[in-house]
Parts: sequence; C-alpha cells; structure tokens
Amino acid sequence: MSASVNPELIQTLEEFGVKSASTCFNCGNCTAVCNLSSESVPFPRKVIRYLQLGAKDKLLQSPEPWLCYYCGDCSETCPRDADPGEVMMGLRRYLTSLYDWTGMSRLFYTSKLFEILAIVVVGGLVGLGFYFFHGPMLTDRVALNVFAPNRVIEILDLIMAAVLSFFLLSNAYRMFSNVMSTPLPGEDEEKAKRRRRKLLKGIPAKFYLLEGKEFVLNFLTQKKFSLCQKREKRIQWINHLLIMTGYSTIFLLVVVGIRWFQRDEIYPIWHPIRLLGYYGTFAILYGVTYAMIARLKKSETAYKHSHATDWVFLILLWLTTFSGILIHFTRLLEMPLSTYYIYVIHLMIAVPMLVLEVPFAKWAHQLYRPLIIYLVKVRERVASAASQ
Ligand code: SF4
Ligand code: SF4
Repeated sequence: MSASVNPELIQTLEEFGVKSASTCFNCGNCTAVCNLSSESVPFPRKVIRYLQLGAKDKLLQSPEPWLCYYCGDCSETCPRDADPGEVMMGLRRYLTSLYDWTGMSRLFYTSKLFEILAIVVVGGLVGLGFYFFHGPMLTDRVALNVFAPNRVIEILDLIMAAVLSFFLLSNAYRMFSNVMSTPLPGEDEEKAKRRRRKLLKGIPAKFYLLEGKEFVLNFLTQKKFSLCQKREKRIQWINHLLIMTGYSTIFLLVVVGIRWFQRDEIYPIWHPIRLLGYYGTFAILYGVTYAMIARLKKSETAYKHSHATDWVFLILLWLTTFSGILIHFTRLLEMPLSTYYIYVIHLMIAVPMLVLEVPFAKWAHQLYRPLIIYLVKVRERVASAASQ
C-alpha cells in the first residue's frame, strides 16, 4: 500500500482534541518513560511523528494508540508540553472515526450539536414507544412486568444487541484488517500486499488460537493498565476496572438476563441476581463519580483535558445508574406510578447511551483495546516462528 500524506492531518486532529502535537521535537523522552512501550512496538513518539508528517495510512495501521492507557506519565515528562498522553487519546478518537464506515463516529467526535441531537432523538423515540405501547398501569401494586413485560423487553434487547454487535464488529474488522496488513519483520511491501488479500490476512489460524487467552485476560482485567502507573496512580486503573466490570455486569443482566433481573417479586438480599445488581450499580456509580470529580478538579494529568464526548458519556452513565437506583427504591417503597415513570426516563437515557456510545464512540474502546493487544501478540508469535 503506498503511503498517502495528508498535510492537513494535524489540523484535522484538532477537531478530535489534539492541540499540542506540533510542538513535539521528537526527543523520545515520552517513549523512554512509558512502561507499556516496548522495543517491538515503541510509542508514543513514533505515532506523533506520523501525525506531524501527515501519514494517515501509517496511523490507520498503527496499533500503538490502543496500547496506551493514558496514565499521563509521558505528559509529565515532556520538555515541550506536547502532552503526548492527550495526543494518544485524540488519536484513539480519530482512529475510532476511521474504523467506522457509517460516518456516525466522526460526526459524534466533531459536532457537539450532532451528538446531543442524536441522544435526544433516540431517547425521544424510546419515550414515544412507551407512550403508545405501554401495558396497563396497575396502581394497587408495583407491576412493572404488566407495564413493560420482560419478555417484550427481552426481544427488543436482543434486537438491539444484534444491531450493536453488527456495527461494532464490522468496525472492529476494519481495525483488524489495517493492523494485520502491515509488513511483518523480514517481509517487504509486496509480500505483505499478497498476504493481506488472504483469509485471516495470510496468518495461520493456530496463531490466532494460541493467543486467544490474551484477549480474554486483557478484556476482563485490563492488566496492562496496572503496569503503566506509578504506584500512587494505581487508583486510576482500579477506577477504570470498576467502571468496566460494573457496566459489563449490568449490561449482561439487562440484555441477556432481563427475564431474571426484571421481576415483580423482590429477590431476598442474598440472592445472586440482586447482589450482582448491587455490585454493578456501586462499581459504576463510584467509578463515574470519581472520574467526574477528577475532571472537574483537573487533579490528575489524564483528567486535565476533557473532550465533549467524555462528559456526555460520563453524564449518561451516571444518570442511567442513578435512575436505576431510584427504580429500585420506588419498588421497595411500593410506589407504582413513580416506578413506571422513572422506568421510562431510565430507558430514555440508557438506550441512547448503548445505541450510540457502544459502536460509535467512547465505549468502543472496550473491544478495540484488548483486540489490539491480542493482535500485537499474534504478530509477535508469527515473527518469532519465522525467525526460528
Ligand atoms: S512528545 Fe514531548 S517527550 Fe515525546 S518526543 Fe515529543 S517532545 Fe519529546
Ligand atoms: S499516557 Fe502512559 S501509557 Fe500512554 S503513552 Fe503516555 S506513559 Fe505510555
């Protein structure tokens, strides 16, 4: 693939929150200080150079931005205030928009108005759906499954999950295609070009299978994040882990396990479903509140700059969780009408967050990051096998 050069790239990246990359003079301090950078995949200096050169194709094929967990160590040591941690963050937004074939992601990241309108439209459609199609509103008891039968919600949930998966996985495939198409060590452009036309990009399936555990491990634990911090900053990793595990727990409960999660009888306090619900709620609320306060105070390097999409994501997640807690209390206090109204408001916030954030915006990184770590491992295994 001939590398195309885009002289306006650095201006384009400004729309994605990258303001300081032009001041970098390529000293390499940031790469030296980064605990996650390695000899085979060094960063962040290299990708900042690509950005300065306008090498869009090189950036598109680079796994490096996704290997950064934004601890901020590099930004604290940069002699030019180029803020390499924030540049990596902006590059992740930019790459998300390049992987996304629908163009939605780009609109999300570059237009606050579009993002807000999209949320209002999707939330409004959910509200209208309930206005016209809700079940009877019994007032002698809380009967949520009469108002919104869990079997119906389950079908709608599964349709939504299928649509989300289609968009997210098709975008992830574009990421895979680009990252696995770059020449392997000892391979020239011509050979890489022939390989990239083949199934699995010409890499035998056994290499993908042998590294499968890397994907699962990094998805569940984000263990690399724990390595990239100074000891006093480990709270950032724990916080990130809380949000991710809390969100995944609630997602599984409401999408896959709705028939057990949304019931009219209240489970005893020790019931596993209730305990999982409490864990997910606490983890999200704590993690998101911490992140919002840190962003307001700008107390840590990683929280000094906030893109509009960072705030939208945190606010939607916080409101979804808070309205979920209110539903729990109105059910416990046997307040039927309040339960039904808050339930609708809860879904008017939660559905846009899922439909828009998961495939097109901030939440896509939950898949992209472990996927890239896994693909880098696959490439390393192929290179090591070739050298033997
Ligand atoms: S971002 Fe800063 S530390 Fe990194 S290479 Fe550029 S000037 Fe040096
Ligand atoms: S923010 Fe942390 S993980 Fe990211 S490049 Fe800088 S030092 Fe490395």
